Amino acid sequence: MYYKQYGNTDMKVSAIGLGTMRYDEEDIKAGRLEKCAEIPLYAFEKGINYWDTAPSYCEDKSEIVTGIALSQVDRSKVYVSSKTNLGLLNMGEHPTKEVFRRRLETSLERLHTDYLDFYHMWCMINLETWEKNMEALYGFFEEAKKEGLIHNIVFSSHMQGNDIETVVKTGKFKGMLIGYNALNYRFRQSGIEAAYKDGMGVVVMNPLGGGMIPQNPKYFTYLTEGTDLTVPQAALRFVASHKEITITLAGCTTKAHVDDAVKAVEGLREEPAEKIAEKYESKGVAFNDLCTGCSYCKGCPKEIPIPKFMDAYNHKILTGKKEGIQERLDWHWDLPREKAAECIACGKCERACTQHLPIIERLKEIAG
Ligand code: SF4
Ligand code: SF4
Repeated sequence: MYYKQYGNTDMKVSAIGLGTMRYDEEDIKAGRLEKCAEIPLYAFEKGINYWDTAPSYCEDKSEIVTGIALSQVDRSKVYVSSKTNLGLLNMGEHPTKEVFRRRLETSLERLHTDYLDFYHMWCMINLETWEKNMEALYGFFEEAKKEGLIHNIVFSSHMQGNDIETVVKTGKFKGMLIGYNALNYRFRQSGIEAAYKDGMGVVVMNPLGGGMIPQNPKYFTYLTEGTDLTVPQAALRFVASHKEITITLAGCTTKAHVDDAVKAVEGLREEPAEKIAEKYESKGVAFNDLCTGCSYCKGCPKEIPIPKFMDAYNHKILTGKKEGIQERLDWHWDLPREKAAECIACGKCERACTQHLPIIERLKEIAG
């Protein structure tokens, strides 16, 4: 395993971290949690020492599964992260310390531990959300840190690069978790550069673009040139090779997924983001325009399945043909394009979109 320094701390973390939102669905549903726990145990054997979990992942079982594994290894040899935010605490903008603490203690109990190495202010979609969470919760984070319940305060975000820079400049966080991949790297590049410069750890989620990269291997084979890697492995390596990025999270359902992720960073060579971007720029397409399928736009008042429509639009971009939209709607989603015409342009989805896509305009185009 290839290890990196976490920001300006003395923590040595594996270049691949275990994302724990992809434990086997059938096993989760059937309550076979011990079986799911074999994945973090296997990852540990392979040298993966950073495990990222959260309440609500895997039908709210991820922390429990991860805790089963954690209780079977030397606790001091794994860095564990979990998350909270105002939405999770479900208390509007005025949560009490008691509710914050109850939630944190639940995470600790489920994980069979008395401290978290990293506690995220979770899912800061934009600066407005971040400001509300800061005002309401940051003091509670600090108190929990003083008591040793959490070791490092970090945040997770879907903001674009310049907004991330604003958060970084506050100096309030040891590190951050952001979505970054071969589809959207330009979108957040300035954010990871700012964090790195500031001595923060940078952890990356969604390195495969919500499945878009493995599902469209022919568009991404350029990432594998000169290697013996598969497209998904090369996409993980693309992210991990950024010197500004400390940990690349790989969501693993099977031991083979763990092996794939480990192989992706064998003999890794780190390079600055700008150099990597320049190297690939001439070969790529307009990746920042693509929907990553993150589903943060869900909850449309007209019940329009936005990620499905945006996925179909991706196919227009990736194939360069407008018919790509109809083909995807017919053969993959079985979705009538007329549904797109029901959009009332309320803007709710665009405000939530992690890629800041012009959803309304695209729906109009799809509806014809
Ligand atoms: S702008 Fe249109 S698609 Fe988006 S949430 Fe509103 S009605 Fe739904
Ligand atoms: S439209 Fe935006 S928020 Fe919705 S799934 Fe795509 S990238 Fe995510």
